[in-house]
Amino acid sequence: MDDETALRQDVIATALAMNAAGINRGKSGNVSARLTRVGFDGFLVTPTGLPYAKLAPGDIVAMTLDGQAQGSRLPSSEWRFHRDIYRQRSDAHAIVHTHSPFATSLACLSRGIPAFHYMVAVAGGADIRCAPYATFGTQALSDHALIALRDRRACLLANHGAIVLAASLEHALALAVEVETLAEMYWRVLQVGEPVVLPEAEMRVVIEKFATYGQPGSRD
Ligand SMILES: [Zn+2]
Repeated sequence: MDDETALRQDVIATALAMNAAGINRGKSGNVSARLTRVGFDGFLVTPTGLPYAKLAPGDIVAMTLDGQAQGSRLPSSEWRFHRDIYRQRSDAHAIVHTHSPFATSLACLSRGIPAFHYMVAVAGGADIRCAPYATFGTQALSDHALIALRDRRACLLANHGAIVLAASLEHALALAVEVETLAEMYWRVLQVGEPVVLPEAEMRVVIEKFATYGQPGSRD
């Protein structure tokens, strides 16, 4: 099997694992991986409208960084933010987008996740921001997401879901699970009261330790 076919299979495996992990239901989420080969600079992304369980490597859509799709399938309707993240973020080699229930619940309140727990630093900073609402699939949504992802590997999307980026599909899936776990814990805390938020200086210490020890979603 060649490298590209293997990567196509990894994209499918990640999409299936996302649903098995309970962070996505049905076909609402999507997965992509950067693909660079001779004469091609772009990414592979899950197609629109096909159940993950029925996907074959040939169904995964290759898109250039100019947004041109190749092959017989149509890309996910959310291809724009995948494309724009790969264009702007050299640290992004894989992206997972979900409508995971707790992250999406917070996003429906336009609430990001503050440093209520030190693991928030796994997304790269002292908080996980929530990007303002825009219609799915639009350039406006992509623009909002890119801003919310500045110096971060994860963000929420108001009234929509969450995006994570990472150095590999494996790390992106792990980070998506971590973000959903944090969102659930924060949601539970909010049922009782307002959490104690860790100071910026402490979060900087945690971020430094993560850089040394390597946490889910961090670079290899
Ligand atoms: Zn979506």
